[in-house]
Amino acid sequence: PEPVLQIEDLSISFALAGTDVDVVRDLAVSVEKGRTLAVVGESGSGKTITGRSIMRLLPPAASARGSIRVAGREILTADEKTLRRIRGADVAMVFQDSLSALSPYLSIGAQIVQAVRLHDPSVSRRTALARAVEMLDRVGIPNPADSARRYPHEFSGGMRQRAVIAMALVNRPALLIADEPTTALDVTVQAQILALLRSLQDEYGMAMLLISHDFGVVASAADDVLVLYAGREAEYGSLRDIFEHPAHPYTAGLRAATPRLDAEGERARLRAIPGVPTSLRDAGPGCSFAPRCAFAAQLGGRCETELPLPTLRGSDDAGAVHRAACHLDRLPELQEAAR
Ligand code: SF4
Repeated sequence: PEPVLQIEDLSISFALAGTDVDVVRDLAVSVEKGRTLAVVGESGSGKTITGRSIMRLLPPAASARGSIRVAGREILTADEKTLRRIRGADVAMVFQDSLSALSPYLSIGAQIVQAVRLHDPSVSRRTALARAVEMLDRVGIPNPADSARRYPHEFSGGMRQRAVIAMALVNRPALLIADEPTTALDVTVQAQILALLRSLQDEYGMAMLLISHDFGVVASAADDVLVLYAGREAEYGSLRDIFEHPAHPYTAGLRAATPRLDAEGERARLRAIPGVPTSLRDAGPGCSFAPRCAFAAQLGGRCETELPLPTLRGSDDAGAVHRAACHLDRLPELQEAAR
């Protein structure tokens, strides 16, 4: 079957002072039903703009080229009417900031009713409210019928994010884009929300694109991982390949910089990757990670002059593809190198 999300040759550029500057280049990735792809990278890596391009919610100065297909429909060339249908029925999005996703002037129940009826105006208010209450119950909000009458500010951050998830999923989208869905929450609530998303995904079979800067979140929620650096794919693979056999020095650095959630003592060794992120705008002809890469010096200038393209690093027992965009065939003992 066709993947729920299929991105091919996606590039996104911004018009800045008369010139087009690429912020995303040549992305190609797909997500199947029931799977979670995490898109991970630092701020400025292009992960959020990629998520927004799937809903075609780009700022006016930005434009996207290539192809994004959701449930078989092309997003980038769709007309407004088709887009509205896709946004309501096929794709939904959950953001970090639950307050801005909700109107302060309407009860939670009224907002979910609106979402239902926007998607299908033939549903009566009463039926829509019944579905809203059922959905609030499903996402773990206590006293759902009462809670439906409450306003966003009456909820805690965690409960509000549950309500946003209820609203996003009430029309059973084929794809959920979750952009830093737990970043604003404390660690315990984070884990609860990730577990909730996982159980809803199992129940509805939706595909999920999880956008995160946090490797710890990725480790607990993803099936597959796309690592972005300066707008390009640095590495793609199964969660296991990415964590156990990273092939790109940047991925290895991210992993080394991730505190283990289970061992408090590990936090003391938390170490950022040295250097500042490069944007595509400043990137030369070679690898944009070169100024921060501990291995660039070993490759005799090749990293600075020749762009590394994603190449196959093998596939695991289940046939999952593993690609990395690096001139090194094998990453030397990177754990040691990173310490
Ligand atoms: Fe480092 Fe060179 Fe690989 Fe880029 S291509 S990640 S600079 S070794």
